[in-house]
Parts: sequence; C-alpha cells; structure tokens
Amino acid sequence: MSEVIFRGGTILTIDPSHRVVAGDVATVDGAIVHVGGSYTPQTSDYSILDCTGCVVMPGLVQAHVHTVQTLARGRADDLELLDWLRQVIWPYEAALDPVATSAAGELACAELLLGGTTAILDMATVHHTDAIFGAAERSGIRATIGKAMMDAPDPQIPPGLRESTQHSLDESARLLKRWHGAANDRLRYAYAPRFVPSCTDELLREVGVQAKARKVGIHTHASENIGEIALVRQRFGKDNIVVLDELGLLGPNTCVAHGIHLSDHERALLAERGAHICTCPSSNLKLASGVAALPELIAAGVSVAIGADGAPCNNNLDGFQELRLVALLHKPRVGPRALPAPEVVRMATRGGAAALGQADRIGSLEVGKRGDVIAVDVTPLHTIPTGSPWSQIAYSAKSCDVRHVAVDGSVVVRDRELLTLDIGKVRANASACAARLFH
Ligand SMILES: [Zn+2]
Repeated sequence: MSEVIFRGGTILTIDPSHRVVAGDVATVDGAIVHVGGSYTPQTSDYSILDCTGCVVMPGLVQAHVHTVQTLARGRADDLELLDWLRQVIWPYEAALDPVATSAAGELACAELLLGGTTAILDMATVHHTDAIFGAAERSGIRATIGKAMMDAPDPQIPPGLRESTQHSLDESARLLKRWHGAANDRLRYAYAPRFVPSCTDELLREVGVQAKARKVGIHTHASENIGEIALVRQRFGKDNIVVLDELGLLGPNTCVAHGIHLSDHERALLAERGAHICTCPSSNLKLASGVAALPELIAAGVSVAIGADGAPCNNNLDGFQELRLVALLHKPRVGPRALPAPEVVRMATRGGAAALGQADRIGSLEVGKRGDVIAVDVTPLHTIPTGSPWSQIAYSAKSCDVRHVAVDGSVVVRDRELLTLDIGKVRANASACAARLFH
C-alpha cells in the first residue's frame, strides 16, 4: 500500500457542487481516499507533499494536443492552417523517425507535467506512434493517443504520410491492441482521423464502426478554418459536422478539436449526439482561424474542453495560458459575465475528463477517483493578494507556479522538479533531433 498526501492546501474539488475545502488530499494505491480536513497515514509507506500556500486541484486535462509536433516549435510561425500544414507540418511529420518522434514526445510530456497537465488526448502522426506511447509511458502522464489517419489521395500530402485505407485501419488496430489499457489503464487508444479532407469516406465510415465496436474514442479536427470547410462543402455539399454525423463518427466518445465555423444546426447536432468540442484559443488566434463561439456552444448543451493543440501553432503546451484565454476571449463580445472563473476551471479539468471518456475516473478530487492531483503555489507576487482561489487559477496563476504533480497516485513532479525524465537529456535530444530535421 502506497500513500501520497498533499498536505495543507486550499482544495478546489471541482466536484458537482464546486466545493472549496481546506486540508489534505490523500491517495492510496493510486485512488483518492480523502479530501479535506487532516489525514493520518495508515501505513509506513507514505510520502507527504507540503502544500502550504498552494491551491490543490485536479490536474489539467488537455483534450487536444499533438506531442509529436513539438520539435517544430518556432518553425511555422505566421501562416494560416492549410499553408501551415502543407508547407511545414506535413513535411516535418513525414521526415520524423522513431528517435525524433520519441524526443518530441518526451519534450512535450515533460513540459505538460511540469505545467500541471496530468492527462491529454493526443493525435500522433501517421507513423511511429509506438514511440509516442513509449514517451508518455516513461513520463508518467495519462494519455489517450491515436495515430493520425490520412488515406486521401491528396497530392498535397507528402508521400511519407500517405497510406492506404487498409494500412490505416490495420495499424490503428495493432496500436489499440498493444497500448489500450497499458500502464494500469493510464494509456488508452483513440481513433484519430486527421480531418475530413485528409480521409476517404470509406475510412471515416469504418472508423465509426470500429471505434463503437471496440468501445474507444474518436479524436478529430473539424470546422477550424474557412478553407477547410470549403473543401468539405465542395466534396459533400454539406457542413462538416453534418458530414461527420452521417458517416457515423459523432457520439459521446467523440472529441472534435476547434469547432469555430459552425451553424446553429451543427451546434444542436453536437449536443444531441453528446460529442465534445475541444477549444484551442492560442492556436486558433495564431493560425488566424477565428474564435469558437463557446457561450453559444455551451448554451446549446455541448460539452467543452480546452487544449493547447501543438507547439508549432501555439507555441507552448501551457494549460494555464489556454485557461486564461478561454476566460477572457468571449467577454468583449458577450459581456464580462461570460465564462466566469469557476466555469472555465471546470472546463479545463472535468470538461477535459469528459472529452477523454473518463469523467468517472479523473477531472475532480472525489473519493474513489484516480489520484491526478496538482498543487499550485499561489504565494508569488503575481497571485497575491486575493480572496478567491478560482480567480487565482483562472486569471493570475501561471504554469511555472505548479509545485507538485501526481498522476494515478504517483508523484511525478515534486517541488517543481520532474522525477520521471532527465530534463537535461530531454532538452539535448530535442535540440539535436530538431537540428537534424531542420538543417
Ligand atoms: Zn490539432
């Protein structure tokens, strides 16, 4: 029996009644056993994390990232989505080998964990997805990963990324068998058709069938960019979300990244099917894609999560920065009460957990859930003085304020130090691989 005690913080439980309590959060063998008040260890096998001056809360859950793209940080600035993909990102992904893929994965997971993100929904590239799973496994992060599926006969896709429909399905099935449920169910698989323009109808239809049969999630992009929705309209004569629905891809286990250019009908359809939208505000601003109308999505009943997308379109994987942007972005149009702090903190935790299909396991600090817990130091000058931990987390805390992190009851960051990977090696490998790829 192994006990971990986050001792003496202000606890944002993010439980259904949004309780804020003082005291300890304790986990035993990975599961939360105690929230609030003081906890006495039951055995001699325990570790205590001092949380004085900290807000203790569930780890951030980012429901749309591309850890594989991290080596292209700063290499694709100031482009719109389709140019960004065709000119830099697809050639970069086509040039990756397992060593570089692993370096990208480790860099991303290290940045995410040190910044308080404990779980991700991650779209890898067409090849070498085992290397991304390996990096996630070593880092200790909770990750649902899928290989990017791209079988469209599109001359703009580099030969290194093109694949047959059968290869795409076979490789997904192999990865699912190898990794889904691995590392005490910390790693899971999700089908990841990249977006409608990069996939054939046959592939998309088959993904819907196989994901349902195997009870795993679907992770895709839709309605991010005007050029992208024009391509979909040209091919189907219909809107993107309608196409996904008619091909059988929209359900409660589906997470759609972006959802910026949507009709009222598409919003209603997402809500009716119980599909999730993951909003990525930095990426949407930087690629000049637009701003997803979150107040309208939420009013329509759509479940919303938050993600950083990738390092070359953000250019960080900083969950706190995204959380703050989501909180601020809608106020000029809708009014200052749009998306208040507690609502946004809930989206970044519970909302993400729901998008990963794990609302019953993570996303809040409740007895019985898995021990994905972070302690955020709120004593730095930029967070004091304040009367509200919600305000501190939504508006003033930064990812560098994260002091301790546990995933599945294992301490992975202690006093701002990553315990699972050697940061010096992560930095050196990432730099060497990037220099090789972008010579
Ligand atoms: Zn993306």
